[in-house]
Amino acid sequence: MVATLWRVITLSLAFARQLGGQCQRIVTERILRKMSAYPKDLDQGWRRRLRSRVLRWYDQNGRKLPWRESADPYRIWVSEIMLQQTTVAAVVPYFERFIERFPDVRRLAEAEQDQVLHLWEGLGYYSRARNLHKAAGVVVHEMNSRFPESADELEQLPGIGPYTAGAISSFAFNRPAAIVEANTLRLFSRLIELDIDPRGIQGQKKLWKFAGWIVSRKRAADFNQAVMDIGSQVCCPVDPKCSTCPLMPSCKSFEQGRQSEIPLKKPKPKITDVTEVSVAVRKGGRYLLRQRTDSERWAGLWDFVRFEVRDEDVVTVQMPERRQTKGPAALPGQQSLFADDSAIALSQLPPSLSARVNDLTGTMVRSYEPVTEIRHAVTRYRIRLLCLVCNFEDGRLKQGAGYQWCSRNQLRELPLSTTGRRFAELLDACR
Ligand code: SF4
Repeated sequence: MVATLWRVITLSLAFARQLGGQCQRIVTERILRKMSAYPKDLDQGWRRRLRSRVLRWYDQNGRKLPWRESADPYRIWVSEIMLQQTTVAAVVPYFERFIERFPDVRRLAEAEQDQVLHLWEGLGYYSRARNLHKAAGVVVHEMNSRFPESADELEQLPGIGPYTAGAISSFAFNRPAAIVEANTLRLFSRLIELDIDPRGIQGQKKLWKFAGWIVSRKRAADFNQAVMDIGSQVCCPVDPKCSTCPLMPSCKSFEQGRQSEIPLKKPKPKITDVTEVSVAVRKGGRYLLRQRTDSERWAGLWDFVRFEVRDEDVVTVQMPERRQTKGPAALPGQQSLFADDSAIALSQLPPSLSARVNDLTGTMVRSYEPVTEIRHAVTRYRIRLLCLVCNFEDGRLKQGAGYQWCSRNQLRELPLSTTGRRFAELLDACR
């Protein structure tokens, strides 16, 4: 079936070529329309007008951002990886610190992974940092420190997907590569009035094809920056600013009054509530930490003893008065960390929690001080994290579990998760 279709297309194009350029264009567009969901009136005239509106807007409104000041593929790559899942405002200070510490790909490749993760602390999605570090090694050792120019080659590097490859290829080398990310996904879906899920396989195919079709051949870098900016600043998720939008005359959703229903929403994931305990086991001035493994959330970061707790582990504790004024995440006076169990003294750790700490680390702890409760979300989990500090009483560190005693200075240097860092800062402030 596919072979037959391909043969028909090839023959049609060959026939059209014989008749001349104009005819070839018409046949190509007809085939394109048949294979896609573009509205019928998207032709080369529509595309020409769209491109000139986009570029005119960019010449007057393009944002000045630290990574746009040069066409250095290294800076563009770092910024694009940071910008995944994160806002521009949040990324700017991270980007500047990162570039100051690792000004080129060679310096990044030479760094220890811990140093890279430490600079990434707070940005989240730490696999991005690990892959960045890995890819720097490949560029330096296998490509003589030169980034490839084509999106296809860039995609071979660790952590570089189709969007990042297209962004580097177009922004750094001005190649007409397609890009689709959150902002352009919304903008393109509205421009062509895409009536299917833009995140599904078919929707993605159509959007990527459309992105490759409209990108300017001469000013690919400016064009792609511009559509991302228009998507984020004008064609907003809620209440798009259609009345001031430079692309309004080209927009099929606006024409049909459907801009608030497109792109079609994806179903909301079911949220699961989870309670976890983070225990800072203390011995003298040192705490027990381990580096999280590749198969875990926040791989490569360091953490206190942390585990999920179930209903039977719960008790009620009174937060000490002095915690009220300590640190940004200090708790109010009465804080219900666990469900009621009056048989357990305030300072005594429930046996099930004590057993879990012993099982994970080999150490014995019996009493605890509550430090804080942190609520946060990871993907579809809503997590309530109870942070306790316990004095080491007995036992030997379990072999192979990866735990080690870390001084407070090490605690400041090691890369921690955002919640781990908040906990560590409170421990510092409480002493
Ligand atoms: S007219 Fe409105 S919906 Fe269409 S691209 Fe512009 S802002 Fe988005």
